[in-house]
Order: sequence, then structure tokens, then C-alpha cells
Amino acid sequence: MDAALLAQADALDGEAAGLDEAEPRRSELLKRAAELRVQALGARPYPVLVCPACFCLTGWLDDDGVCAVDAARRDVGATSGFYDVRDSRPRYEDPPAPLASRIGRALGFGTRRERERAWLARVEPGQTGPTQPEEGWELEWPISFERQAPSGPHLLVHFDTQSIRFDQGAWREADTTRGGKPPRLFPREFSASLATDALAEAWADFKEEATAHNRALWTAEVAAREARTAAEEERRLAAETERGTSGLLG
Ligand SMILES: [Zn+2]
Repeated sequence: MDAALLAQADALDGEAAGLDEAEPRRSELLKRAAELRVQALGARPYPVLVCPACFCLTGWLDDDGVCAVDAARRDVGATSGFYDVRDSRPRYEDPPAPLASRIGRALGFGTRRERERAWLARVEPGQTGPTQPEEGWELEWPISFERQAPSGPHLLVHFDTQSIRFDQGAWREADTTRGGKPPRLFPREFSASLATDALAEAWADFKEEATAHNRALWTAEVAAREARTAAEEERRLAAETERGTSGLLG
């Protein structure tokens, strides 16, 4: 992936953001940015297309040449057009636990081993989160699901992330996470009839994008925690010095 091209694309997006929506130059900039992103991704075994309506990268365009979101927007009218891909999602759930441990969890004391197992199922310790299970830790977990295209007979495969939070020893759905959603670069919708190998590659690329986001959040969190610890240590030393000084004066 070509980072320089991606940086150029971001710069064009930034320029476009300062322009009025009706300004033709805005569309030109967004289109050029999308083309640079396609170029930056290079050859992939799955389609990487640009939606001419929203300039997102997508693996599927409908017969009119727009992405699923814009196809839905067109079909239901511009005002209420929102293709809610979430309503057909598999709801996020941990695999069912034995009754005894479910009761334990409900009472807030799953066994230590269960907590660790649940933690390790979603976190690469020290990479995408703390090495030990930590209450309240949040992740964007990649999910995939199929859905009928807004119009026409096509079945689509969608990729998205589910916000999850570690809560009382298990992962639970959350509305948001502190770091927000991962950036959108790789295509997230494809025809379900695409070759399995191609879909698998697309899924792997999307998952890596989500994992990179989770990794970056953990890296930032480590830095923030280290800064807090250093500041506390400084305060402690300052307090000690002050006590020492006043001891001398007294
Ligand atoms: Zn679109």
C-alpha cells in the first residue's frame, strides 16, 4: 500500500471539506482523492471501485453504478435515504457459557480462567489491548454479514465493525467506543457471488484495517498511561521534597 498516495488523497479531502457542497470543484477533489486511494491499494484479487455519488471505495456498484447506500438513498428518496446495514447484522454474542458460569457472571464473578479466555478471544495482549483482562476496555470487532441489495436480486456481503466492551468478564455490544470507528479505506461491500478466494482476501484486508485501528488506540493508551504515571511520580517526589524542606525549616 502506497502511504504517499494516501497522504495526497487525505490532503485533497481536506481541501474539499472547506468547499460548499454545490461547488463543482468539491466533487472533482473527492473523485481525485478516491482514485488515488484505488491506486494506493494497488492490484487486489477483488474489485476496488469508486462510487460516483459518495466517492467511497466499494467492491460492488448496482446497475445504475452506485454503491448500496446510494442505491437505497435513490430508491427511498433523498430525504430518508439510509441503507441501514445494521438491522440484519448478526448480533454480537460471546459463545454460550455453561449454566454455572452464566450464573456466576450474572452475579459478577466469572472464574479467572473464563475471564482470561474471553479476553484472549478478542484481544492480542499488548498489541490491541492490555495483557491482562481489564474491565471497560473497548474494541472495534470486525464482523461480516450478507444482505439483499436495496433493489434487484443481488445478495451482498457487508463488512463492518461492532463496538464491544469488556464488562464483568465478557464482551458486550456497545453503541460506540472511545476511539470511534476505524477509518474507511478498504471496500466493505461485495457481491456474494464473487469467488470465495477473492472474498476471503477482501475480508482479511478489512480485518487488518480494523485491527490496525485497535492497535493504534492501545499504543496511544500506553503512552497516556505512562505519562500519567510519570506525572504522579513527579508529584510524589515534589511532595516528598517539600516535606523534607519544611522538616529542615522546622
Ligand atoms: Zn456511494
